[in-house]
Amino acid sequence: PNIIEIRDLTKIYTDGLGVKALDGLNMTVKRGEFLSIIGPSGSGKSTLLHMIGILDTPTSGTILIDGENVTTMSDRERSRARNEMLGFIFQYHHLLPDFSALENVMMPLLIAGKSKREAERIARDLLKEVDLEDRMDHRPNQLSGGQNQRVAVARALANSPKIVIGDEPTGNLDSHSSDKIYELLRKLNREHDQTFILVTHDENMAAKTERIVRLVDGKIVNE
Ligand code: ADP
Ligand code: ADP
Repeated sequence: PNIIEIRDLTKIYTDGLGVKALDGLNMTVKRGEFLSIIGPSGSGKSTLLHMIGILDTPTSGTILIDGENVTTMSDRERSRARNEMLGFIFQYHHLLPDFSALENVMMPLLIAGKSKREAERIARDLLKEVDLEDRMDHRPNQLSGGQNQRVAVARALANSPKIVIGDEPTGNLDSHSSDKIYELLRKLNREHDQTFILVTHDENMAAKTERIVRLVDGKIVNE
């Protein structure tokens, strides 16, 4: 069964120059896939990720996520779908600087209505999985770049999203730390049966994924 079905997706940015960022794109993603989207700068990678992440709406075409058409939803339904189905990892971790690793991972769980006790239990388990058992009480400025990105990974997984989206998830890390993050994501993908979609411009990172989708001028050119 497909977790994502994209049909004839077009996005034209109407502000500015009227750029056609996505041009009639078709794509399906199976549940549990570990895939990367790669392509030159300006090819539409971020735009496609924003559509899959229900962060922006297309000009035309449809996106089904787990059978739900997210392109015809109201704003309220979109935010419900985003919170229920998606986890995000960004290039910069965006952790809250005044909170510990544990508190940062607990935050989305508390927002989703979990009790403090339950949130702490889940956050501790996730931080163990990303190998930060002994860093739970450290704040972001007391952790390395790689460690902070692992906290961000744990936070993205907190509410057990069906799909984890990474926009250049290792973009600010050296190649050694990047490798470690990709290995971690792959391990989590296998163990949690979640779908991972990672945008990168780095061929070496893309090569670590199961499937590579290549974009040029808003179209998929090959896989
Ligand atoms: P990539 O992530 O592959 O670098 P993007 O999806 O960011 O590509 O951009 C695709 C095209 O859409 C580019 O030509 C870019 O300039 C344009 N674009 C992206 N975001 C916007 C926006 N908010 N407004 C206008 N044009 C945009
Ligand atoms: P990683 O490979 O996970 O990114 P590093 O090699 O960058 O880790 O960091 C090695 C050790 O240095 C880590 O145990 C980390 O806790 C510590 N460290 C890195 N940056 C800082 C910092 N700004 N403040 C305190 N400790 C740090």
